[in-house]
Amino acid sequence: MSDNIVLKTNQEIALMKEAGAIVCAILDSVESIVEEGISTMDLEMKARALCKEYKVTPAFLGYCGFPAVLCTSVNEEVVHGIPSKKKILRHGDIVSIDMGVILGGYFGDSARTCIVGEVSKEIHHLLEYTRKALEVGISHMVDGDTLFTLSAAIYKVAEEAGLGVVRKYSGHGIGTKLHEPPAVFNYVPTGYSDIVLRKGMVLAIEPMFTAGSYETRVLRDKWTVVTKDRSYSAHFEHTVAITDDGPKVLTI
Ligand code: MG
Ligand code: MG
Repeated sequence: MSDNIVLKTNQEIALMKEAGAIVCAILDSVESIVEEGISTMDLEMKARALCKEYKVTPAFLGYCGFPAVLCTSVNEEVVHGIPSKKKILRHGDIVSIDMGVILGGYFGDSARTCIVGEVSKEIHHLLEYTRKALEVGISHMVDGDTLFTLSAAIYKVAEEAGLGVVRKYSGHGIGTKLHEPPAVFNYVPTGYSDIVLRKGMVLAIEPMFTAGSYETRVLRDKWTVVTKDRSYSAHFEHTVAITDDGPKVLTI
């Protein structure tokens, strides 16, 4: 199963670090304008302008027909929310911003959930442990570790925190394509075989947790994924390479 995983050279990882650093810079700028009263389209316009400024190609625009540069997913929206002028951020909301770029043929992909004003303790808990799960996942990006050890470690963080783990969407390999093998599940799936992680693998690790049930459905826009029980959801993602020196986070 690991046969079709494309290993990257140190030079390729260096190129992906350049792409990833730009994703991070754009996300930082977009996050800096998150406040009560602005629309998710305002975030999109900022990201579009920054892609031009940094001379990078946005990775999501047109991908399978997706209509925007950013995925902006508010509150019960898990992933793949479409930016809209009508979607105004309110005090107490959370918004997950997912962004990918292509630079010199290589992709970077990262996401973070931001808070609008002050949020409840419950939401802080959701964000804290989703972020923690990403860190724990990254710590397993070591040659000789295994994919399912990484997945199980992410799952355990959610379980111990009493959070739901979205099943239908996962992380992924990444390189000259946005989505490469393997799928990086946030739980240990049945019907798949585990693989040994090797130097040169680059994976986008992206826990998606909920404050309630893990079940999701897709809205009529055919993109926006929401929790079935309308509980809030958080999403943190980094593109990470396995190197001789251990995990190297490329999207910082
Ligand atoms: Mg992403
Ligand atoms: Mg991704």
